[in-house]
Amino acid sequence: MKVNQFRFYIALVGVTVSLWGSLGCKREAPQEASLATAIPLTPIRKIASDESLSAAKVDELGVVPILEYHDISGSKSKGMVRTVSDFKKDLNRLYAEGYYPITMKEFLNNRIAAPLGKSPVILTFDDARGSQFQYAADGSISPDCAVGILTDFAKVHPDFPAKAVFYVLPLSGFTQPSERQKKFADLVKMGFEIGNHTVKHKALSHMTDEEVKKELAGCVRLTRELVPGVEMETVALPMGIGPKNRALLASGEAEGVKYANRAVLLVGANPAPSPVSPKYNPMKLPRVMAVDIPFGITYWMDSLKRGTPTRYISDGDPNTITVPKSRQSLVVTSRLIGAKLRTY
Ligand SMILES: [Zn+2]
Repeated sequence: MKVNQFRFYIALVGVTVSLWGSLGCKREAPQEASLATAIPLTPIRKIASDESLSAAKVDELGVVPILEYHDISGSKSKGMVRTVSDFKKDLNRLYAEGYYPITMKEFLNNRIAAPLGKSPVILTFDDARGSQFQYAADGSISPDCAVGILTDFAKVHPDFPAKAVFYVLPLSGFTQPSERQKKFADLVKMGFEIGNHTVKHKALSHMTDEEVKKELAGCVRLTRELVPGVEMETVALPMGIGPKNRALLASGEAEGVKYANRAVLLVGANPAPSPVSPKYNPMKLPRVMAVDIPFGITYWMDSLKRGTPTRYISDGDPNTITVPKSRQSLVVTSRLIGAKLRTY
């Protein structure tokens, strides 16, 4: 193992350890209470019987993997690169093991609309890299970029919708400069979410408060120049490094542009707690790195398959949070945000 690789692994282990520690704190996000009235109930699907909840082992206190991708290209998966073939394998494995893509908004609103027995997963793509979104010469979406692979997979598997969040660097814009505006607009039209990943992708810890605000507001301003009015309500920290003053991540203003983030996404290294878990802290949401490293995608997919930790298994009704009776006392009822609690 090379020294740099070793340092990276050690850093990841450190992130994991510190995350478990920080997630153990029962920190309340200040904006959650005010959401209760703002989030409407979605139309109710067929209510599941106790027998079917039990058969599906429904548990909405389980963890949700938020997968973190960078490049989808190359002939070998290494570093931040996942090959097209490995990415397709990831989708096939997720599908075979009962996962169902959801939006970040569903997760933060505690309105997860996964069918009965399915486990939510959130796909994220950082840096607006070219391999994530390319047009072919005829203007169609390249079948080998992440967007093409996801949308093609969803066509063949209608019970695995193409949902993902793109944490963008608006100036790089998926490396086809002349197509930058069209790409951003098309992503939004296709129902993908756009998140803040700053302008320059520098460590926020080395900046003054004013510089941090400029980076966060600047990403919103530049992205909205491409897609007017686009909603950007979460941020992924460049390299997972936050500013000294973490309050700046929640909201701020620079050069006349305001920003507000309901969630802050980290780099690595474990699945996210359920929105109703005492360990949930939207301002420090961990992700699973979708690469082959210790505590990467394979480690966590294997662990979740074994049931350690328990994964989120949906009751099929976004308006209801269902947990086994034995776990009822663990549900943080203030985080139901208007959803009903059900036990079986
Ligand atoms: Zn990045």
